[in-house]
Amino acid sequence: MDRKRKRNLGNRYITILALAMCFIGCKKDEEKPVIVKEELAAVEEPKDVFEFGFKLNDYIVKRDTVKAGESFGGVLERNNVGYPKIFYIAEKAKETYNIARFFQKGKPYTLLCAKDSLETPKCFIYQPSLEEYVVINFNDSIHAYKSRKPIRYIEKTVTGIITSSISETLDEQGVSAVLTNKLADEIYAWTIDFRRLQKGDRFKVIYTDKYIDDTIYTGIHDVKAAYFEHNNEPFYAFRFETDSVKGIVDYFNEEAKNLRRAFLKAPVKFSRISSRYNLKRRIAVYGYKVRPHKGTDFAAPIGTPIMATANGTVTESKRRGGNGNYVKIRHNATYETQYLHMSKRKSKVGQFVKQGDVIGWVGMTGNTGGPHVCYRFWKNGKQVDPFKQKLPEAKPISDSLKIEYLEFIKPIKYKLDNTFFKPEIKENKQPEQTVITQATS
Ligand SMILES: [Zn+2]
Repeated sequence: MDRKRKRNLGNRYITILALAMCFIGCKKDEEKPVIVKEELAAVEEPKDVFEFGFKLNDYIVKRDTVKAGESFGGVLERNNVGYPKIFYIAEKAKETYNIARFFQKGKPYTLLCAKDSLETPKCFIYQPSLEEYVVINFNDSIHAYKSRKPIRYIEKTVTGIITSSISETLDEQGVSAVLTNKLADEIYAWTIDFRRLQKGDRFKVIYTDKYIDDTIYTGIHDVKAAYFEHNNEPFYAFRFETDSVKGIVDYFNEEAKNLRRAFLKAPVKFSRISSRYNLKRRIAVYGYKVRPHKGTDFAAPIGTPIMATANGTVTESKRRGGNGNYVKIRHNATYETQYLHMSKRKSKVGQFVKQGDVIGWVGMTGNTGGPHVCYRFWKNGKQVDPFKQKLPEAKPISDSLKIEYLEFIKPIKYKLDNTFFKPEIKENKQPEQTVITQATS
């Protein structure tokens, strides 16, 4: 907002300057600088303002929000609408939108009133959400309709070089932390471990911001494409809709490989790896003897939900010895996973679970020094390190779509490849932007 205002002021200043320069340049009436003032007044004259499909200049505009305990009728009554009319309005509006019923505390409304001494209300506009609005027009014949504010998506490009963390790098450029989450948890969750980024890793991202009515910024809409260089290795990601009917969207690399894997990287969110898979682990309490650790420990508070890392069928769910409460899942002929030390289990043998389903909660049952889940990954009956596996793709692109995909990404990849890293961060720097769509439906 602030930036926008600054920009507007800037524009106005340029206009003033241009006018002033014209006058100086034209050398008309040098002794009458007053004219400049008159011209300025003309520049600042209010323009036609449109909102909700009305020219607001034609009305006295009264804006407010619904107060606690306030009814639709109460608002109209307070604004000089008589009771029989209120009843008639509410009844008539019901055909489109039952305003009396959905009238809710905190929601904004606007009354458009006649520019007469009575300020007679002509139209009532209620906003159940930021995007939607309901118009009840009682100017002549009463009619009501629902509509949406125009939405604008603005495409932006941001680049950065990691010095400490990605969120810090983005923050320095005024980009929301939502982008970090999208990159770390959605797009690159399977290919890059964002907790172990290297200094000098760098990225370019093309994303879209969403605005309602050109003025209300509602956040990052989606990431169109990204390029991430981790340990000098390039990772491309392109958003592509594989099923327009079901609206299924996935990210694929430049060779049309799905970036999502059949397995999640971790069975718990917001956790920290406290002990990795290590066949040569030595432990002090055991006299520094080799005690292989065939699992990966994710430390998390007691009660944190534990998720199945992939679709599969539960083959074991019980409490036994050092494992404590544990669950084992068979995913296919090759892979099984196991989750140990749960405080409580939430899955039964024979049950089919989907990736991300909660199968239990973090606890300290069995042999454990602190709350964590010991995650064991089995391949062909042997425990292996899941982080060293080349895991299968979640859903490969179909052959017929692959050609279309490669065509689709061509211009986007070209744009990414021709965007250059800007290491210097200038003050007030704003991401590059272009308007791509405008929907009014
Ligand atoms: Zn463990």
